Amino acid sequence: MNHETALSQAKEIAERVLAPAAGQNDKEGRFSIEAVNALGRAGLLGIMLPTKFGGAGLGPHTFAVVTATLAEADASVAMVYLMHMCAAATIAAARPGAAVTQILAEIASGAHLSTLAFSESGSRSHFWAPLSRARRNGTGVGITAKKSWVTSAGCSQSYVVSTLAPEGKGPTDSTLYLVRAGVHGLSVQGAWDGLGLRANASAPMMLDDCQVPLEFQLTDDGKGFQAMLEVVLPPFCLGTAAVALGLCRAAVVTTAAHLKSARFEHLGQSLGESLPTLRAQLATMQIDTDGLSARIEDLADHLERPRDTTLLRVLETKAAAGDIAIGVTSTAMRICGGSAFSKQLNIERLFRDAHAGAVMAPTGDVLREFIAKAILGMPLF
Ligand SMILES: Cc1cc2nc3c(=O)[nH]c(=O)nc-3n(C[C@H](O)[C@H](O)[C@H](O)COP(=O)(O)OP(=O)(O)OC[C@H]3O[C@@H](n4cnc5c(N)ncnc54)[C@H](O)[C@@H]3O)c2cc1C
Repeated sequence: MNHETALSQAKEIAERVLAPAAGQNDKEGRFSIEAVNALGRAGLLGIMLPTKFGGAGLGPHTFAVVTATLAEADASVAMVYLMHMCAAATIAAARPGAAVTQILAEIASGAHLSTLAFSESGSRSHFWAPLSRARRNGTGVGITAKKSWVTSAGCSQSYVVSTLAPEGKGPTDSTLYLVRAGVHGLSVQGAWDGLGLRANASAPMMLDDCQVPLEFQLTDDGKGFQAMLEVVLPPFCLGTAAVALGLCRAAVVTTAAHLKSARFEHLGQSLGESLPTLRAQLATMQIDTDGLSARIEDLADHLERPRDTTLLRVLETKAAAGDIAIGVTSTAMRICGGSAFSKQLNIERLFRDAHAGAVMAPTGDVLREFIAKAILGMPLF
């Protein structure tokens, strides 16, 4: 698998599996197992895993392009994909001695979907400060935690779970563990019925004294926070920005098609031919979409060749992407008027989906806090 084949596989799956079902899955809040199976069969679940684990060893650039392609057809599936990729990166970066070889082989073969279970109801969007704490038992730890949102809840084969280290002193002294689906005490707490990304099963989950063996401890005690920042945050911010880009591109395509096909019969013109104000707004959508695309390429480049500005780019790109996706899809709603409002077009789904990126942690507000503190030389936490 190389960059080109990964992209062509993503396009094929987006057209054949995602696009035809996206509207109905959104309506029903239905998680697409078919999409995950197709991504697995195509080898896309392991594209960033090192080749020594059976992955394709591809980089952030390919990940971003694949994610944006999926999001253009169905942002719910793209979000499932990106959370999996973040979890897979964390599992691949597990400390020496962790028994993850089998799981990485399952991911590389397309038979294993994973995800992140970080946010807790107690600390809300401040995912870096879990309130739950692991308790040592004879063979590992027991974890009791209320996880407030877990994408692919109940549909994943494993969960990367954060919790305070048994002897951790401060609020960020966390450890990451791998919790296999089916472990006693792990349950989904109700159905997911969100405003947007309705087909990605982002339900709360409960861990009720789940027993996790030592070999599934992914980081050293208290080093979970460092892994969140170094391993998870970069692909998460890149991936959420790529989802935003896919949404923007889809909004431009649908809006342009509507401006060409909808007509003022009495004037003998299409909407696009008739109204310069709509053309100007469409142009702004295109400018913002291409601007986001350039930002994403810049971030992928920073991740491939890290430098002093990399952390700022990571934070900025997600913050910008959330606002751009909301702006572009809001403009699409306005341009397409009653047709969008009455759900004759997919624009309202794109508009709803676009709002998720900004509230997913780190939220746009928190990112601004971090960015400004970084500029001012203040500690981020
Ligand atoms: C579709 C979806 C999927 C998700 N999937 C996952 C997942 O797979 N795994 C996971 O761990 N979590 C997941 N989450 C949770 C997500 O990452 C956030 O934790 C959650 O959305 C926060 O919501 P809240 O109401 O608790 O936010 P709150 O913390 O209550 O925030 C409320 C408001 O306060 C603002 N705010 C908070 N702190 C600050 C600050 N320091 N400075 C300025 N403003 C601040 C926020 O920006 C927000 O506007 C998901 C969420 C959604 C919506």
